[in-house]
Amino acid sequence: MSVPVGSVMVGSDHPVVIQSMTNTDTSDVQATVAQVAALHRAGSEVVRVTVNDVAAARAVPEIVRILAEHELDVPIVGDFHYNGHILLREVPEAAAALAKYRINPGNVGAGSRHDDNFRSIVEVAIEHDKPVRIGVNWGSLDAALLTKLMDENAESDDPVDAHEVTMRAMVQSALGSAAMAEEVGLAHDRIILSGKVSRAPDLWDVYRRIAAACDYPLHLGLTEAGMGIKGAVASTAGLAPLLAEGIGDTIRVSLTPDPGAPREREVEIAQEVLSALGIRRFTPSVTACPGCGRTTSTLFQEMARDIDAYLKERMPTWREQYPGVENLNVAVMGCVVNGPGESKHADIGISLPGTGESPRAPVYRDGELVGTLQGDGPTIAKAFNDMVTEYVERRFGGRT
Ligand code: SF4
Repeated sequence: MSVPVGSVMVGSDHPVVIQSMTNTDTSDVQATVAQVAALHRAGSEVVRVTVNDVAAARAVPEIVRILAEHELDVPIVGDFHYNGHILLREVPEAAAALAKYRINPGNVGAGSRHDDNFRSIVEVAIEHDKPVRIGVNWGSLDAALLTKLMDENAESDDPVDAHEVTMRAMVQSALGSAAMAEEVGLAHDRIILSGKVSRAPDLWDVYRRIAAACDYPLHLGLTEAGMGIKGAVASTAGLAPLLAEGIGDTIRVSLTPDPGAPREREVEIAQEVLSALGIRRFTPSVTACPGCGRTTSTLFQEMARDIDAYLKERMPTWREQYPGVENLNVAVMGCVVNGPGESKHADIGISLPGTGESPRAPVYRDGELVGTLQGDGPTIAKAFNDMVTEYVERRFGGRT
């Protein structure tokens, strides 16, 4: 089943969609537009913004209008907690402008207000024909549901541990909320589910249970993944097994950026995860060996880095000019041990001379030796760049 999120389809056979979230004050229209634009240009196909008060809600239509003016076709999702039922009614222009509403069933109010508030948001979604993501998060799990399941477990003849009860509560919260939304009248194909936790094995567990129980598209992401390498690896460990099993229709990498660091890193990691799994390609791939004592010069490291940067820099133009160029595989290898073999497997590859080897760098194209470059590092690097460019023009530009 697939769900339309603005101009993007999520689910079924549609490509796994990459999304991200801003960290600007949404009421700061210029800052939010700038960050959404940067995230979208980096490859985020959907961007979520916090809608936490009236000022943020009022800013949403303006943000959407400016993005459209700049021809940035990126669906904007509103993230609601506690007061979504009020904001969506009070600012109907925001309800109309958003492409999807994210509801956290753990944060819509307590007691009888919980169901009323939840229904109220769903009714707005129905009025505006918008999809919702029912986004359960174990950091804000529906307290009443969890208490009920804990009590039932305590009285059970066969009690399970508290962690298992929490996992069950996550699944029940997602599925029960979806059932309630459909009872209110929301169409089955206007619902996306998520059940985010912060440890990879728990993520696999929750999503496998949810996927086995329903056909709603699933938004996948490890919540609070952390910073830097830890956040990137934790997210990859969480997402990869599920995606490899075919679970997950849209993903987000919840990376904590270093202060002042670009927010786009989370989009880059999401792209790399999908690329590494062979699910989607976004930029050409550069295969490079790790280097070892057989190559003590830094030439191959510099070349691998530079060719990678060159390919990324050219992609905005090449993507339009040379359809399919994102599938290009380039190899830059450090010595004769694996250099020729790996280069032959790539579309175009170079095997640089290791320590003590003659200063010659054979180049392979489509598995065939097509030349040997000689000279100093910059000369070889320039010649190889030219050969890569020529290969791209010939293969993806229809030149013969
Ligand atoms: S290809 Fe050569 S330099 Fe690179 S890791 Fe293998 S043995 Fe070392």
